[in-house]
Amino acid sequence: MLVAGGGVAGVAAAVASARGGAKTALVERFGVLGGLATMGLVSPVGSLHTHREQERYGGILDEIFDELLILSKKYAGGNRDRGASPYIALDDCVSPEILKYVLLEKATRSGVKLMLQTTVISASSEDGMVKSIILSDKSGIKSVTAKVFIDASGDADLAFHAGAEYVYGSEPGVMDALFETGLDTVHDEAEETRKYEGYSSSGEVQPVSSMFFMGGVDTEKSAKFVNQTLKYEDLGIDREEYKKLFYYGWDGFEENGDLIPLPQGRVLWFYSSREGEVIVNMSRATGINGTKAEDVTKGEIIVQKQIIAIADFLIRYVPGFEKAYLINSSNILGVRESRRIIGMKTLKGIDAINCERPPDSVAYGSYSIDIHDPTGRRKAVGGCLKGPCYGIPIGCLISKNLPNLLAAGRCISADHVAHSSTRIEGTCILTGQAAGTLAALAAAKHKTPDKIPAEDVRKRLEADGVVIY
Ligand SMILES: Cc1cc2nc3c(=O)[nH]c(=O)nc-3n(C[C@H](O)[C@H](O)[C@H](O)COP(=O)(O)OP(=O)(O)OC[C@H]3O[C@@H](n4cnc5c(N)ncnc54)[C@H](O)[C@@H]3O)c2cc1C
Repeated sequence: MLVAGGGVAGVAAAVASARGGAKTALVERFGVLGGLATMGLVSPVGSLHTHREQERYGGILDEIFDELLILSKKYAGGNRDRGASPYIALDDCVSPEILKYVLLEKATRSGVKLMLQTTVISASSEDGMVKSIILSDKSGIKSVTAKVFIDASGDADLAFHAGAEYVYGSEPGVMDALFETGLDTVHDEAEETRKYEGYSSSGEVQPVSSMFFMGGVDTEKSAKFVNQTLKYEDLGIDREEYKKLFYYGWDGFEENGDLIPLPQGRVLWFYSSREGEVIVNMSRATGINGTKAEDVTKGEIIVQKQIIAIADFLIRYVPGFEKAYLINSSNILGVRESRRIIGMKTLKGIDAINCERPPDSVAYGSYSIDIHDPTGRRKAVGGCLKGPCYGIPIGCLISKNLPNLLAAGRCISADHVAHSSTRIEGTCILTGQAAGTLAALAAAKHKTPDKIPAEDVRKRLEADGVVIY
């Protein structure tokens, strides 16, 4: 079994596969596991439990977060009384530093062979099956074969190289279906930003961002500003003075009427587990294709420059940030959306919104529909689910044209609308465990994954502590 990509989904997939008895290798292009959740500092974790009843999902997801909370208290100063999250549907902010360790420990303890600082650069398929992949590492270039491959690269890199069918960004008509459900915009309280103007809804992707940590924040004083679209007058800012700032006119800081020009149009941070520390999610670059080298470089330049500008803005003007300071920022570009495989089944936004749970579901999600506006005009499009959780059918994890190729995490088969919920970390871990379990069952039975009944996977997941609905 070979898993490409050591983000949260890839680690869960590799651990489940190794525990299921399959000889498993995990390839990761950087030296650290966790992907966006660690190197990307995305520490507010969503979909740890069902939406309304708040029932936990169990399995590797619970194992990771139980260990993480204990170790964070012990080694990362995670003692703040969190209370209710100021932000809907986000459960907790975890220490990326401790998460790195928990994931590494879990992978090595399960017997996963780690291939770090190793990148999948090509792949070959024969007779409708992936045969081998080409890896680039410190020693050079090598070819590796496996019976089953799991693409957990976030961007479906392995699927792309192997010739699997895939989609990039939004599909035609998918947004119309969303609006028919009555959902429109989220996070937009201000009248002037609530109006939806539409986007072409084909090949569009959510903007990229980079998260960063700040310390020395007066959390009580700052709390009432979280997630607000602000006018100059709200913060008592002299507009003409603002225009003299060194970053005025940069990407995201252009003229914006009475509203303060900010890359995401709002101020947004989450409270970390450490007193006085926040994780800021305010940078944004639109029109960046996370699978194209030149776009990734462009995106990195834009959002990295925005970080200092945003920190300056917060310290200068937002009550509670007077004594704040920048701690660190993401080491990888925060790509929310790029390629997704086309699976034997595709999860539709409408099914996620209505919380359908088909009998062949092997993972569940409960985060709202949250499409950060690809055009950058509004905050986000979407809204809350209409039930406790939706099911992800097994077919969403299996490539339609290459049945020995599975996907986990960000690149499973879901449409643009459903993906805006399935991309959330808790759900990525659940699809990872399901893909790893399916792969191990397929290897044990000498079959391709498409020949394994969903019921067998569900039973094995349940035996391994996952809650099956
Ligand atoms: C700015 C931002 C804010 C977000 N906010 C939240 C939030 O508040 N709550 C939440 O739960 N989620 C949030 N998300 C979403 C969530 O963080 C990600 O969707 C999730 O972590 C994806 O996990 P993954 O394992 O599928 O992919 P990734 O984390 O992208 O991991 C993929 C891994 O594959 C590796 N890789 C890629 N290509 C190759 C290759 N060719 N060869 C080898 N390795 C490769 C990468 O280095 C990486 O380690 C946010 C995302 C962003 C960008």
